[in-house]
Amino acid sequence: MRYSQYLLPTLKETPADAEVISHQLMMRAGMIRKVAAGIYSYLPFGLRSLRKMEQIIREEMDRAGAIECLMPMANPAELWQESGRWEKYGKELLRFKDRKGADFCMGPTHEEVITDIVRNTVSSYKQLPLNLYQIQTKFRDEIRPRFGLMRGREFIMKDAYSFDIDDSGADTSYAKMYQAYRNIFNRCGLKFRSVEADSGTIGGNFSHEFMVLAESGEDAIVSCDSCEYAANVEKAELLYGELETPAATMELQSVDTPGQKSIAEVATFLELSPHQLLKTLIVQTADDEVVAVLLRGDRELNPIKLANLLDTDAVHMAEDKVVKEVTGAPTGFAGPIGLKIKVIADTEIKGMADFVVGGNGVDLHFTGVNQGRDFTVSQFADVRQAEAGDPCPRCTSGKFESWRGIEVGHIFKLGTKYSEAMNATVLDAQGKSQPLVMGCYGIGAGRTVAAAIEQNHDENGLILPMPLAPFQVLVTMVNPKDDQVREAAEKLYRQLLDLGLEVLLDDRDERPGIKFKDGDLIGIPLRVTVGARSLKEGNVELKERRSGEVSLVPVADVVDQLQQLVADALAFTVES
Ligand code: ATP
Ligand code: MG
Repeated sequence: MRYSQYLLPTLKETPADAEVISHQLMMRAGMIRKVAAGIYSYLPFGLRSLRKMEQIIREEMDRAGAIECLMPMANPAELWQESGRWEKYGKELLRFKDRKGADFCMGPTHEEVITDIVRNTVSSYKQLPLNLYQIQTKFRDEIRPRFGLMRGREFIMKDAYSFDIDDSGADTSYAKMYQAYRNIFNRCGLKFRSVEADSGTIGGNFSHEFMVLAESGEDAIVSCDSCEYAANVEKAELLYGELETPAATMELQSVDTPGQKSIAEVATFLELSPHQLLKTLIVQTADDEVVAVLLRGDRELNPIKLANLLDTDAVHMAEDKVVKEVTGAPTGFAGPIGLKIKVIADTEIKGMADFVVGGNGVDLHFTGVNQGRDFTVSQFADVRQAEAGDPCPRCTSGKFESWRGIEVGHIFKLGTKYSEAMNATVLDAQGKSQPLVMGCYGIGAGRTVAAAIEQNHDENGLILPMPLAPFQVLVTMVNPKDDQVREAAEKLYRQLLDLGLEVLLDDRDERPGIKFKDGDLIGIPLRVTVGARSLKEGNVELKERRSGEVSLVPVADVVDQLQQLVADALAFTVES
């Protein structure tokens, strides 16, 4: 490709609305342009990376025995009504009507469509296992689209669906996908963790997320510093050990705490540390149940664990009006004493005595509070967020480290949720009709490229790893008006193309400074500079973008060297 004839609109300035580095650099390096909130066009340079990502996914899915298909974006409402998700999905599902008034939605995921295909085409266990995948555009009307391709409304996902006759078959299919995902992200050269994840309302307890480690990640994960355990904090289990409730040593006392609301304020006021206080949260479930949740003062609630415990879709902090109704006081003074609602205490609290709680009255707290004596806990449960330093529940000797991560892939064991709802059955070896046991497996292609940029850049621009880089080699003519330079660069360009390398030839009539700056920004891994001075000595300059290392290479050797460097950078060993 010739730069002079290519569309590569680089920007000097960082666009004001681009908060994270990948969004900034994708805009500046001319990879994407915004069309509407969360909706982007891929310009040619960005599309090349996206297509490479897709191809890596495709090859590893094929290697794992999955088969590619392609489903439509427009999904008829009937299928979604059958699964029950037409009602349940909420506002992320973009719904519309066709000219005849029939209801449709833009597919945010494709369990319904694929289950419909399989129930109509597969009838015997002999046709199983089956794993079908597609690489296709999804639409989710995200409430807060942001960070460019990271959280778009329209985005490209690889989604795969496995079908098995029984549970153990489904476990095997899941394990294959787990391995394929590790291969995909390893092949992209990413630093990632596969973590145990919450399977949400989908059910089952079998789900892993693949997290690219990056400070800008929206997810918090913990991993053990001595064993393999790693989990999303939403899911991370905690080790509580055997807890005995210590005997009370203090009398219950009410104290005035004028103007002191937060745990930190009350702790300072009473000259205590936050872990001697209890937090009382008044929480409302999606089904409108109101409960009180007790946590040690320095801990955070894990809303997902609480929602799972209460068997509800989600929980949120109760509105001020509800808090007033159940505690008799405005928000900020709640405590467990005298409450008429269910009191759920984090398990850790079982081991505590003589603590401080809110007094259910303005500017009022209680000290010397003891469970059993002063109030009753309805249920102890693990409802807090894991933190760095918590002991590992698996090996029990290690400690958690915490990381930020970008979720690039998610695999689920679905079980029979969709096959039962949609009557997708096959005959087993005994001729008996069985619901298919399913799994589903997603990877965000655009999000993964963005995540790769979060991990691979410097102050001058992109440093995409070779497997995802839009081009492998940049050949820069320092001065295209110099006949010798032009001819040598053109020759090199042709030789590299003939070898099948992906080359961008910077043949623009621009100052060298501009070319080098753009070269750094677009971050093509290998850059060959053809200039008059070195050419006189029979050399060109070879620069590696990542290390910044520059070497002079004889013109006669450079083609072989580049070919070798590219091959080495693409080499990859499959784990199995
Ligand atoms: P998130 O929690 O980030 O919203 P999700 O759990 O909704 O993700 P899945 O339904 O598991 O995501 O989708 C599979 C994959 O699709 C994700 O791992 C991610 O890589 C990608 N993805 C999901 N939502 C978006 C989005 N809004 N923009 C870009 N990629 C997305
Ligand atoms: Mg989502």
